[in-house]
Amino acid sequence: MAGGLRIRGIRKSFGDVVVLRGVDLDVAPGEVVCVLGPSGSGKSTLLRCVNHLEPVDAGFVQVDDELVGYEHRDGRLYESAERDIARTRRRMGMVFQQFHLFSHLTAVRNVTLGPVKVLGRDPREAEREARELLARVGLAAHADKLPAQLSGGQQQRVAIARAMAMKPSVMLFDEPTSALDPELVGEVLTVMRDLASQGMTMVVVTHEIGFAHEVADTVVFMDDGVVVESGPAAQVLLSPRSERTAAFLAHVR
Ligand code: ADP
Ligand code: MG
Repeated sequence: MAGGLRIRGIRKSFGDVVVLRGVDLDVAPGEVVCVLGPSGSGKSTLLRCVNHLEPVDAGFVQVDDELVGYEHRDGRLYESAERDIARTRRRMGMVFQQFHLFSHLTAVRNVTLGPVKVLGRDPREAEREARELLARVGLAAHADKLPAQLSGGQQQRVAIARAMAMKPSVMLFDEPTSALDPELVGEVLTVMRDLASQGMTMVVVTHEIGFAHEVADTVVFMDDGVVVESGPAAQVLLSPRSERTAAFLAHVR
């Protein structure tokens, strides 16, 4: 399945704490999956396992049909070498709750850093593309500002442009609007809605039920380290099969 994500049987513990108890999820090319679930249910850990920021205890992840973090040798599975992990991870753009921009670099430099340093792109070409990307997220006029001169919503849009500059196959979002003042949430969701409509494959951990309803193809409800329920967005959100999903939705609405 080129351009998609395949997650199979992911288990992950930290010491005695079992966080993921066998998570399966497929994301087709161009599909938008929203992941909902209570705090502590393992959503962030799942995203971190997907791009191998955390090694898994069992199971596997494939992006574009390539194993993430591991490789087969002599009939066994081994963790890949750093540079192979980095190369595979590059297929996935990650956007965090706390934007994680480089505070000493302007917006446009934040966006060109990866393409120039990691992909070896021509700096001028990278800058031209970065300005285009910043224009796409509504920040053409702010490209030469430092993060501290930007609002939270603008910083998060820079972070999205930065991830897109690496031309990922899949974008992973971990509660991208949770740290924002309410009046800034909409501008970030608008950018994400545009990405989705342009065919980007996306996994979005969010508490924005309205966004999930409108934009997601599939909604996944996680609790206690498992996928409790997944299905078409309208079905899961409007007529959940599981009591736990229904209770959660009643609580966040
Ligand atoms: P969510 O994103 O759904 O709120 P998390 O994936 O952040 O949930 O956390 C799930 C559980 O895993 C929590 O109990 C959390 O304390 C635990 N956890 C997450 N990361 C670590 C870690 N690095 N070390 C120990 N426990 C962790
Ligand atoms: Mg989280």
